[in-house]
Amino acid sequence: MKIAILSRNAKLYSTRRLVEAGQAAGHEVHVIDTLRCYMSIASHKPEIHYKGRVLQDYDVVIPRIGASITFYGTAVLRQFEMMGVFPVNESVAISRSRDKLRSLQLLARRGVGLPVTGFAHSPDDVNDLIQMVNGAPLVIKMLEGTQGIGVVLAETRKAAESVIEAFLGLNVSVMVQEYIKEAGGADIRCFIVGGRVIAAMKRQAKEGEFRSNLHRGGTATLVKLTPEERATATRAAKIMGLNVAGVDILRSSHGPVVMEVNSSPGLQGIEKSTNKDVAGMIIRFIEKEQRPNRTGNKGARG
Ligand code: ADP
Ligand code: MG
Repeated sequence: MKIAILSRNAKLYSTRRLVEAGQAAGHEVHVIDTLRCYMSIASHKPEIHYKGRVLQDYDVVIPRIGASITFYGTAVLRQFEMMGVFPVNESVAISRSRDKLRSLQLLARRGVGLPVTGFAHSPDDVNDLIQMVNGAPLVIKMLEGTQGIGVVLAETRKAAESVIEAFLGLNVSVMVQEYIKEAGGADIRCFIVGGRVIAAMKRQAKEGEFRSNLHRGGTATLVKLTPEERATATRAAKIMGLNVAGVDILRSSHGPVVMEVNSSPGLQGIEKSTNKDVAGMIIRFIEKEQRPNRTGNKGARG
C-alpha cells in the first residue's frame, strides 16, 4: 500500500514509529507536511498539490493533525477523502473531538459517564454556573486547550469566580467541571485501535500538580483496566467515530468518567510504558480495513 502520513514534523516519535512500522510491513510510506498541501477545491477531479507536484495514488492517509492547525489540517484531510483515500480517522471525527464541549455533549447524549460539567457565555451567569457544578473546588478549561495548558484548578469559590470572569472577559470560551479529587492527580489513557483498547497507561501528575499530562511532567506506568473502564473507553471512541483514539478516563467515586477523547494520541508514552508495538497495530488495522473509497461518515451526528 501507499501510505501518506499527514504530519508537520517527520522527526516526531509518533511519526517516525508509524513510518518504521509501515515500511517493516512492506508498504511505501511518505510523510507529508500538512501545511504544505494546497488544492483547487472547485475542480471536479479533486487533487492535492504538494511542493510543486501532485499527490497521487495513495491508498491510506494517517492524519496526525496538531490542535493548532485543526482547521487547515481537516480541510486537507477532506480533500484526501474526496479522492477516495482511506483515512485512519475521518475529518469530521477529528473536528468533533477537537471541541471539548461538543465531544462531551455527544458522549452525554449516549449516557457515557462524565464529570459534572457546565458552560456559560455571560459573566452575569457565573455564580449560577458554579452552583450548577456543585461549587468549588472545580476545574476550569479552555474549550480548545491541549497538553494541560488552559486547565485550571480553582480551589475556592472566589478564585473560581475571578478566573471564569477573566476568561469570559477575554472572550475565551471555557467549561467548568466538577473536580475529581479522588483520582489523586492520575488519569488513565486508553489507546483504541479499531474499536478495541490495545494498550492503557496510568499517568500520574508530578508532586503538587493535578494535571497528569506527560507534557506537564506527569509519569506513565502500566495499568490494568476494569471491564467497565474498557467498555467506557471503547464506547467513547465509537461515539466520536474515531478508529484510532486516546480516551482519557478519571477513576471517580461514581465509576469511570471520560475527560476527553484525543484523535491524534501520541505513541511515545504508551509504547514506552506498555512495551507494545502500537504503531504496528495501527498498520495492521489499516491492512484489514483499507478499501478504495471507504471514507464514510461514522460516529454520532453533530
Ligand atoms: P488537555 O486537553 O489540555 O489535556 P484535559 O481535560 O485532559 O485537558 O485536562 C488535563 C489534565 O487535568 C488531565 O489529564 C487530568 O489529570 C486533569 N483534570 C482535568 N479535568 C479534571 C477533573 N475534572 N478532575 C480532576 N482532574 C482533572
Ligand atoms: Mg488531556
